[in-house]
Order: sequence, then C-alpha cells, then structure tokens
Amino acid sequence: MKTITLIGSTGSIGKQTLDVCRKHNITVRALAAYSSTALLESQAREFSVEKVCVYSDGHYLEMRERLADTGIKVLCGMEGLCEIASDKRADLFVNSVVGMVGLLPTLTAIENGIDVALANKETLVAGGHIVMSEAEKNGVTIYPIDSEHSAIFQCLQGNDPKRVNKIILTASGGPFFGLKKYELEDVTVEQALNHPNWSMGNKITIDSATLMNKGLEFIEARWLFGVSPRNIEIVVNRESVVHSAVEFKDFSVIAQMGVPDMKIPIQYALLYPEREECDVKPLSLTDYGTLTFFRPDFETFDCLSGCVEAINRGGAYPCIVNAVNEEAVGLFLNREIPFLKIGELVRKSLDRLPEMPSDTYEDIKRAEIAARNFVFNEINF
Ligand code: MG
Repeated sequence: MKTITLIGSTGSIGKQTLDVCRKHNITVRALAAYSSTALLESQAREFSVEKVCVYSDGHYLEMRERLADTGIKVLCGMEGLCEIASDKRADLFVNSVVGMVGLLPTLTAIENGIDVALANKETLVAGGHIVMSEAEKNGVTIYPIDSEHSAIFQCLQGNDPKRVNKIILTASGGPFFGLKKYELEDVTVEQALNHPNWSMGNKITIDSATLMNKGLEFIEARWLFGVSPRNIEIVVNRESVVHSAVEFKDFSVIAQMGVPDMKIPIQYALLYPEREECDVKPLSLTDYGTLTFFRPDFETFDCLSGCVEAINRGGAYPCIVNAVNEEAVGLFLNREIPFLKIGELVRKSLDRLPEMPSDTYEDIKRAEIAARNFVFNEINF
C-alpha cells in the first residue's frame, strides 16, 4: 500500500486527493494548508498523520492548540512545507498548493529522491528546466495531476516518446469562449468564477476565464514531456471530454477521454500504474452526442498569447508572466482592477521587463520579485 505526504490539503485538489486515499486505503503521513485550521485539524485527526504544517505564521499557535491533545507535530511556513516534502518514508509527495510557493517544496522532494505527484503547475512554469533536470539527476518521476497532462501521460504509456509528432493540448475555452475583447470589458468576479465544466479553486477558475490556465499548461507540457513549443497545438474542446491527445509519427492520434472530474487524474497519479474503480460518473458518449473542436482565440485572450511568447523567449519570462498573473488575479478578485487588465499586465511585462537569468532557484526568486514589483508600480503610479 502506498504512503503519501500532501501539501495543499484543504483546497479543491487536496480534498479530492484525500477522497482517493480514503477509498484506496492510502496512508497519509503529513498534511499542509495555508490557513484553514479547522479543516486541517479534522483531516489530521482522521488520517492520524505525524505532522501538519500551517503555512501562515499567524495561524501557527492556533493550530498547535487545536492538536494539543494529539502527538501530531505542528510546523509552519516554507520551512514546514519543505520538512514535509523531505519525508523519505513517503512513496509520493503530492503538491497541490496554488502558486509559485510550490516550487521549493517540489525541489526539496526531488533532492530527497521522492517521487512527486504535481498539481501545482506554477512549479513547472516558473522553474521547469530546473525541476526536470533535478528529477532526472535524482531518478525521480513526476506524475502530473493536471487533467490535460495526465491525459498526455496516459497516451504516452507503452509508446516511445521519440516517436511523438505533437501534443494536442485541449482547452474548454472557459466561460467567455466566442466573446471578443470589447464584450469582456465589464466582466465581474462572479461571471469569471462561473466555469461551465469544471469546479475548481478561485485562482485556477479565473485563470481558466482568461485562458492563462491554458498558457501555463502549455509551458507545463513543454517541460514535463520535453517537447518543443512548436510541437504543442492547443485545441478547444467545449465539452471537456477529450482531456488531450498525442499524435505519433504514423499520424495515429491517441486521446484520453472521460467525464470532467479531477478524481480520475488524481487517482491515476496516486495508484500508477494500477487502474482501480474511481468514484466518478462513467462517460457516456451518446449522452454527449457531439464533441466540438475549435481553434483558440489568441487575439482576445492576451494571457494565452503572452504565455506562448514567454516560453518561446525562454529564460525567466515564463516565471515573470506567471508571477505577474498571480498578482493580477489577486487584484481582480479584490475588485481592484478590471478583468481585461490581467492580460494587459501579462503582455506589458514581456515588453517592459529585461531578460533575466533563470539558472538557479535564487534567479527564479529574483525574477519573481521583479515581476511582482512591476505590477505594483503599474497599479500604484
Ligand atoms: Mg488542466
């Protein structure tokens, strides 16, 4: 039976990961959350974990009090996340935190030779080249939890990666599919949070509305599967049934399908290579009747074209657009900037910020800070 550690346990992916653990009797050794102490406490008690980490310093004492009658060790901050990531008694480190905060814990698990199940796409966007080369050096496997990347990973099973022509990365198109910029000027937070197919956390739901999510996934796919950006095609599948596909040398295309439910990719990453029953609705193609496919609209969705440009330029630019987006999404959710400003800031950062080195974690941090400062200056002056 497998043993895991999990950071980001109170978010959408974290909760579903624990559902999979419950169903398949997977042992959980440690959990971490940002600040949801009540839920973290109940998860920690249910799974009798050894350690928990609450990332926010301000919640540390409360968390200790909550678990005072147990032997559970309480950690906090980045140090706590990295202590969990370095637990060598786990077979798998599951990273489902949101944002670039996930990069250092991922690198820590890799250095310790622990396989990683990665739902934290910002890790690969910001530091993909470092993560993949460290993983290779340490003989660590990265199992994707993102539905598209899980699909690609599944399509590649039993095939030689050198025989791949291209990856077909599918997108739902988001809630604003078919609309033009002038129609998106007055989009509210509520409208942007209303995704047609997937139920997800706030940050990724906004990223899906701006298509930033697809841009980040484009970069993620480039690193995870070692393909050139030229060989990744983005295709909109409005129904979110085809989760992605791979075209091989003989022009045979293998796609992975299923209902849009994250439990399937989560369970595949946790139980790999086994396939067991999953608590989701089976896919009925005849209920759908029709699957529709479209080209993405790079003109309207600046975040998407910004990400493609960032990975083509290389260096620290993927990290920069990601950090700019993280700041911009926070501002939009606080109703401080309009919806279209997110894409505008992403595009502008590519023009305004100079090339920066990206060889080490410290380089990445510097680029991240420059990007966050750029947003701050754009908004305040
Ligand atoms: Mg995805």
